Amino acid sequence: MFVCKSRLVSVSKRQSAAVSSQFVRNGSKEKSPQNHAIQGTQLLREPALNKGLAFTIEERQTLRIHGLLPPVVTNQDLQHERVLLNFNALTSNLNKYIYLTDLQMRNKKLFYRVLIENIEQMMPIVYTPTVGEVCLKYGMIYHQPRGLYITINDLGHVYDVLCNWPEQNIEAIVVTDGERVLGLGDLGAYAMGISVGKLALYTALSGVQPHQSLPVCIDVGTNNDKLLNDKFYTGLRHKRVTGEKYDALMEEFMAAVKRKYGQFTLIQFEDFANQNAFKFLHRYRNQYCTFNDDIQGTAAVAVAGLLSALRVTKVPLRENKFLFLGAGGASTGIAMLLHRAMVDSGLTSQEAYNSIFLVDKDGLLVKSRTDAAISSFQKPFCKDFPLMPDYKEVIDLVKPTALLGATGSPGLISHEIIAKMSEWNERPVIFALSNPTSCAECTAEDVYRISKGKILFASGSPFDPVEYEGKTFYTGQGNNAFIFPAMAMTAMSCRVKHITEHMFLKCAQYLAEMVREEDLDRGLLYPPLGDIREDSIKLAARLAEYSYRTGIATYYPEPMDKDEFIREHVYDYEYRDFMPKLYPFPLDGPNEVK
Ligand code: NAD
Repeated sequence: MFVCKSRLVSVSKRQSAAVSSQFVRNGSKEKSPQNHAIQGTQLLREPALNKGLAFTIEERQTLRIHGLLPPVVTNQDLQHERVLLNFNALTSNLNKYIYLTDLQMRNKKLFYRVLIENIEQMMPIVYTPTVGEVCLKYGMIYHQPRGLYITINDLGHVYDVLCNWPEQNIEAIVVTDGERVLGLGDLGAYAMGISVGKLALYTALSGVQPHQSLPVCIDVGTNNDKLLNDKFYTGLRHKRVTGEKYDALMEEFMAAVKRKYGQFTLIQFEDFANQNAFKFLHRYRNQYCTFNDDIQGTAAVAVAGLLSALRVTKVPLRENKFLFLGAGGASTGIAMLLHRAMVDSGLTSQEAYNSIFLVDKDGLLVKSRTDAAISSFQKPFCKDFPLMPDYKEVIDLVKPTALLGATGSPGLISHEIIAKMSEWNERPVIFALSNPTSCAECTAEDVYRISKGKILFASGSPFDPVEYEGKTFYTGQGNNAFIFPAMAMTAMSCRVKHITEHMFLKCAQYLAEMVREEDLDRGLLYPPLGDIREDSIKLAARLAEYSYRTGIATYYPEPMDKDEFIREHVYDYEYRDFMPKLYPFPLDGPNEVK
């Protein structure tokens, strides 16, 4: 296969144009060596183009990398096999993350193939729970910059900072200010790992083109003293700037994104503190294409789980009583979407509010409570009851059909409460949403054993299957990853103006419909995680239908077949052949290029 020196060729303009045109898909130009005039060592250092040992001899010669690689020519299958062997040989999840990150920075297509084809194994590494550990140690494991940092010192120059990002065709941003990362608190600039991880799932799960997404970390300081004293900390070393200056930075950021990348650029908010999360969602939802995953993604996935459960309990949505332990961002977001679902099912707004109860660490949310902890978003759920500080009394009073925990307090749903739920309901529903597993309000084992398998259970973090009286019960994980990648794909491909609350409700309903009867029989309230990529694409297609039907999609002309349309946008991790149009004739023929 060796090609002699006399055959070394240079790329003509006509040939370059022919190759470049292969990379224009869906109006977005994917990188090619020619349209970026990248050759030699530079090509091997460009992760979007690098194929490592899979470059052919012709490509190596034409693109001036001949001799820079060992002589063997392999293929992606073998590279995939080698990556998995190396990955599995590592014993710590943090090292597995570092290994995958290194691959992502070297060879993007191979990275995404590994991720996509082994999603169940890889998801806990590129995202929760490992990403939490990664964020805690971000400064320690830092070796290359990823994503864009915008700091409070950039106020007045945010647009210029955005212009430094090398990709021009950005259509989706995940932004965090790191004030409340997972259950880990304020991680400041270390939260970049969250934006990076979420966007990796955009591509792995719904096929978003990686070069069209941008991870952003807004750094206004941190109130985490441990980080302020960490000599490896990578962020601004002062307390958080708050108030008008902070709001002005966010305002400028949103406007700069619109100016630089256009009105339809999706902006996903991630891990902002509750007050800011609700404030920005309220402020920007009708102005930009934006959503907050902690509030709306969590809400959609939890409501989907509840709707799946109701397929088993056969109790119509409007006849249920829902009790939330915890009244923070997660619970309030779920309660708000549930309220909408109940109104859609025929209840008046007040009747729906009357069916949803929230308890925080000071007890039931009631009108007589005057503490500042009750926000305007929680007020509609406040009941006309006397003060009820003991959550157990509230449970006894309400006798809920569904009990949801999102408090971060392990053991809050005691054996006694599980037993009572089983007594009051033919098929009770209990969700223990707090992460990680050690913080869950109860365990899968307790739920299935105490209720004798009657309870329909879902959790925030995965539990192992439970054997009970000859039957194996599988626990559904209310993972936001069922929601946000599909939502992003629809918003980007259909150019959705604004992401409405109803879109999240539809997403929940469609997801619940995707759960098969045999999954429900095994105790699963969500589709199996192994199918999540195909399910995300199908979900995106159904959301696209909905977006056109309701007039929020603006991509014109409307595609007739939405499933085909979404699939046309899906990222292809197969290597591109850089050469086909350079050699439309046999190398030995008379037209050989000199
Ligand atoms: P948060 O801090 O905003 O709210 C916690 C709430 O729990 C507060 O209202 C607090 O008063 C209440 N609380 C704490 N201890 C309590 C107790 N002993 N009794 C009654 N109430 C108590 O947190 P959040 O963002 O709402 O998240 C809560 C939990 O939900 C976290 O563990 C998080 O990991 C989890 N979560 C899960 C998902 C998911 O499953 N997809 C998504 C988001 C959050």
